[in-house]
Amino acid sequence: SLSDRLAGALKDLRGKGRLSPADIDSTAREIRLALLEADVALPVVRGFVAKVKERAKGAEVSAALNPAQQVVKIVNEELITILGGETRRLRLAKNPPTVIMLAGLQGAGKTTLAGKLAKYLKGQGHTPLLVACDLQRPGAVTQLQVVGERAGVPVFAPHPGTSIGGGENPLGVSASDPVDVARAGIEEAKAKQYDVVIVDTAGRLGIDEELMRQAAGIRDAVNPDETLFVLDAMIGQDAVSTAQAFRDGVGFTGVVLTKLDGDARGGAALSVREITGQPILFASTGEKLEDFDVFHPDRMASRILGMGDLLTLIEQAEQVYDAKQAEEAARKIGSGELTLEDFLEQMLAIRKMGPIGNLLGMLPGAGQMKDVLAQVDDKQLDRVQAIIRGMTPAERANPKIINASRRLRIANGSGVQVSDVNQLVDRFFEAKKMMGAMSRQFGLPGSGRGGK
Ligand code: GDP
Ligand code: MG
Repeated sequence: SLSDRLAGALKDLRGKGRLSPADIDSTAREIRLALLEADVALPVVRGFVAKVKERAKGAEVSAALNPAQQVVKIVNEELITILGGETRRLRLAKNPPTVIMLAGLQGAGKTTLAGKLAKYLKGQGHTPLLVACDLQRPGAVTQLQVVGERAGVPVFAPHPGTSIGGGENPLGVSASDPVDVARAGIEEAKAKQYDVVIVDTAGRLGIDEELMRQAAGIRDAVNPDETLFVLDAMIGQDAVSTAQAFRDGVGFTGVVLTKLDGDARGGAALSVREITGQPILFASTGEKLEDFDVFHPDRMASRILGMGDLLTLIEQAEQVYDAKQAEEAARKIGSGELTLEDFLEQMLAIRKMGPIGNLLGMLPGAGQMKDVLAQVDDKQLDRVQAIIRGMTPAERANPKIINASRRLRIANGSGVQVSDVNQLVDRFFEAKKMMGAMSRQFGLPGSGRGGK
């Protein structure tokens, strides 16, 4: 499977201290093969592999992650990106009813999806109406009625006696024209105040003009808020041409992947977003109405990667690393051990990360420090750095010894005014006092003063 292949490609990196260009190339080659074998479309594979390679080569040395973990992280992030990034929710119309039209080949799972969607929306407090516009296949209307009954949602259908209006086809709808039925269905929803209309349509076994014409006709009649292209994830490479044909012939605002429970190789999911530019909204994983969920790119990515545990570990490693540094800083602050050396170190760490304005809040745990730094801009920071550098180690460790003559010497050595040195030393003592008090008051780590 794709997961196994990807795991295999990444396994070879384990235990490497650093990655050579050759390591990255061979890993990229393996990933490429894995994706192609899973029926991911070639242009998508090319783009993906190029991106992973570029990022792997540029990856900074991270203290939290080893090289193999970094590559896994990159692959995971790029998978999420090609799957659409953020979860895309269904868009509801400002003025109900919201009209959702389903399109796709015969057997893709449209009618089943209609029921699933209806049930899902009903569960969210909506009042959906299903509209049966597949008049092609014998039994298609009945199938939707069965599904509707299971979902506990009414079905608007053209046949006498079966329309939800009861009686004999009260709207006088032609039972042979899906466009008429669609239009009447919307009228019914408006009249009876259903807030979502789900329009089931006919598909064909293959793409043909008649199918596209009919779907486009229904689209024009109902003016859908969402047109969902329903795609059988098991159809492999054909997914791309089918999706393109529907995009060009009918147009759609989102994709639903079905039959993800099957032995799907995952390629369809990975290609469709990139190829059509439209997001995947839902995933269908079985024949029952409950086998259905909102599509989350991040969850799908980790499913494909099959490394959920490793990804969690990576996340934790990054957090633990930050936390460790922060804890040490907090401990020193709490126990009154903070020196000007630490002060400088913290400033330089922050400095490395970019303009000070963006950074406040990026130092977890060393939060008290940021209150002090909030008042400092980059120019001042330069001056502070120069002043501290101009001090002897003894002065940095114990600023209390910095008397008037030392201040003068430091000022001269750093090219600043004595008042600048005074200000820094004063600010340091003030900050230390304030942070120590805060730390004791709020029971921050290290406040036990030599407690461990
Ligand atoms: P339509 O022609 O597009 O309306 O497709 P249907 O809704 O009639 O579904 C075709 C077949 O696929 C039916 O037998 C469904 O039970 C089945 N089916 C639909 N969705 C799924 C799914 O997510 N998983 C599985 N295993 N079967 C599905
Ligand atoms: Mg159907």
